[in-house]
Amino acid sequence: MQDEQMTRMYEKMGISEKVYRFGRQMEEKLKERFAAIDRTAEYNQMKVIRAMQENRVSEGCFHYTSGYGYDDLGRETLEKVYASVFHTESALVRPQIACGTHALCVALAANLRPGDELLSPAGKPYDTLEEVIGIRPSRGSLAEYGVTYRQVDLLEDGTFDYENIRKAINERTKLVTIQRSKGYQTRPSFSVAQIGELIAFVKKIRPDLICMVDNCYGEFVELTEPSDVGADMVVGSLIKNPGGGLAPIGGYIAGREELIENCAYRLTSPGLGREVGATLGVMQSFYQGLFLAPTVVASALKGAILAANIYESCGFQVVPDGKESRHDIIQAVELGTPEGVIAFCQGIQAAAPVDSYVTPEPWAMPGYDSDVIMAAGAFVPGSSIELSADAPIKPPYAVYFQGGLTWPHAKLGILMSLEYLVRKGLVTL
Ligand SMILES: *Cc1c(COP(=O)(O)O)cnc(C)c1O
Repeated sequence: MQDEQMTRMYEKMGISEKVYRFGRQMEEKLKERFAAIDRTAEYNQMKVIRAMQENRVSEGCFHYTSGYGYDDLGRETLEKVYASVFHTESALVRPQIACGTHALCVALAANLRPGDELLSPAGKPYDTLEEVIGIRPSRGSLAEYGVTYRQVDLLEDGTFDYENIRKAINERTKLVTIQRSKGYQTRPSFSVAQIGELIAFVKKIRPDLICMVDNCYGEFVELTEPSDVGADMVVGSLIKNPGGGLAPIGGYIAGREELIENCAYRLTSPGLGREVGATLGVMQSFYQGLFLAPTVVASALKGAILAANIYESCGFQVVPDGKESRHDIIQAVELGTPEGVIAFCQGIQAAAPVDSYVTPEPWAMPGYDSDVIMAAGAFVPGSSIELSADAPIKPPYAVYFQGGLTWPHAKLGILMSLEYLVRKGLVTL
């Protein structure tokens, strides 16, 4: 195909020739990195297929079950598949887990008892966990049940403060929570190797401490997962990486048998545990989504890296920067002005397959202290493995964006965001 033909197609989509060529130049420079991402996806694809083969996934696993859901073959097999992928003894993978926060809440509440202490050795956890833990007073928090919390902040350079972590561990410490992705903070995300070092350090002090990793946004970014380097539990959302864009709901917890049993009794009920929980026909999407997840994550990663390089070369601060290695799929771009973040988000929205004709505007949202603008034209509402962006309207006017089920769509979204900034006169190419 002639480049001319492609340029025309992009023009029809609303991308000017100048923006298209700028993007193409940038893409040329990223060939080697993209090839490395494809190799990681290839490796992880084998890991997933092998897990499905070893556990004898069959068409019968996709059947609809309702009611109590006793002996749900699809559910039981999928949990074995997840355990194989994460190299853990056991896993809980359920549509009854409403989201990532719920999965994390179940994992914590199931394995902590009154008088126990929870330790976060890597600074403040994800916003929604503040209420789960009771850092911000909240109905039903762990604090209300007599579970205390201690936190050790990262050092200035973003590394672990080992000395103070050692001091923070006491006879009541029971569980250590480590968040792999920076989420919407400015600290760096942790590599699996860094998490492994932290776990080794903690276990040397107290081998019986339970190490849990919030794995949200990190799955399949690297060749290994935190459960390969000593994590006792890894936890995540199925409307992020491991659902591959197809899972319409759900969460997972994979880890040591005893801990996962506790989670099952907390999720359903003491005495019932993992035996109940009908799957209502979602199993096929869970399997197929997991099957697609490694290449979907690769698309999202390529999009994040393209955006980092494009916006960096336009003079904006980007986190991670254009060259840094990646440990999750989130990209932050500091656009510096409200007009900038609004144009960026409107561009992402305009490139969506769903709701492309709506114009996102900043709005007051519960739980935020400023207006927020969100762009998402997703098949699954709120899914952030699909191309999506959001930004609080406050300094430094940074937009966080992530996802992209296919690489061409991720690329279109980024080019469209640039197009909008160029049209507004906020960027000159
Ligand atoms: C998304 C996310 C969560 C919470 O997930 P929800 O599905 O939004 O409840 C927790 N931790 C991290 C790091 C996340 O990225």
